[in-house]
Formats: sequence, structure tokens, C-alpha cells
Amino acid sequence: MDIKSLIRDIPDFPTPGIMFRDITPVLAHPQGLSEITNGLVNLTQDLHIDYVVGIESRGFILGAPIAYKLQAGFIPVRKPKKLPAPVYQAEYALEYGTDRLEMHQDAFGNGSRVLIVDDVIATGGTASATAKLVELGGGIVVGFAFLIELSFLSGRLALPANIPIFSLVSY
Ligand code: AMP
Repeated sequence: MDIKSLIRDIPDFPTPGIMFRDITPVLAHPQGLSEITNGLVNLTQDLHIDYVVGIESRGFILGAPIAYKLQAGFIPVRKPKKLPAPVYQAEYALEYGTDRLEMHQDAFGNGSRVLIVDDVIATGGTASATAKLVELGGGIVVGFAFLIELSFLSGRLALPANIPIFSLVSY
């Protein structure tokens, strides 16, 4: 299955100059979610993770089935003021703007092995901030998994050099 052909390019969204990679046609395809889930599971199953940390909101859609297949827990990292219990906070820069992410302080135990999942890595700011949240929570980031890597933005350089980074589609 050609996943890239199902990714829709939307120019100038959400701001002028941004080429938005829209994954909704992949998700709508009957085999789409299973194809991308299996693809990322095959790349990460040897990491023997305890938890998937998914980044709001498309990281939830991809991260939950990956956690299910790896028999790992799922932890949401969310936009501000969404999580009900005490949180750790990290600021991050988007390809378009800045924001803050939060994760429950009691999300997992010290030394837990964590895979961070999102749909797209652009500048790497979001994934980098999420890695900081995992460290604040006492976890060990053992991998990053993305459906799409915008390699011309070199986002992987913003992530720790010794941690594997996986993606299925690259631009
Ligand atoms: P960054 O922090 O720059 O790596 O941006 C990654 C986050 O922004 C992910 O959560 C993506 O969903 C979103 N994002 C950034 N750029 C794009 C893009 N060109 N198309 C779709 N989503 C994007």
C-alpha cells in the first residue's frame, strides 16, 4: 500500500507558506490505520517499551493502536489545562507558533521505557518538549515514531542523538 499517495497536501494551512500534510485520507482508508500501525510496530517492537506517549491530538490516533499492539500502556501528552491531575509542563515551538504541553506527574513509574509517537516531525520542537516531560516523569525515552518526517526541516537534530527515530514517509 502506497501511504504517501493517501497523504493530502494542503498549501498555506494553517498559515501562508506552510504545506500541511493531511493524514485524514490515510485514516479514512479501510486498511490505512492498520498499515501505518503495523509499519511503526514492526520498526519499534524490539525496543521493548512499557508505554507509548502520544502527543495531542493526531499522536493519540496513531499512538493508541501502537500501544495496543505492543501490549504497552498509553499516556496522553496534552495541550494546556486539559489534564485533571497535577502535571509537568514544557514549552515548545511549532513550525507555526509556540505552545505548551502537559503530562500527568504520576503517568508512569521511574525507569519506564517510553516510545514517543506523533503524526509529523517538522522542526522537532514538539517531540523534544515531550521528551523533556518524559524525563521529568522519571521515564527513559527509548525511541520516537512518526508517520511523516519533514526531513528538510532537520527536526531529528533537535532530538537526543543517541535515541532511534523512526518514520514511514519522508518529504
Ligand atoms: P514540530 O514541533 O515543528 O516538529 O511540529 C510537529 C507538530 O506540528 C506535530 O504535532 C504536527 O502535527 C504539526 N505539524 C507541523 N508541521 C506540520 C505540517 N507541515 N503538516 C502537518 N502537521 C504539521
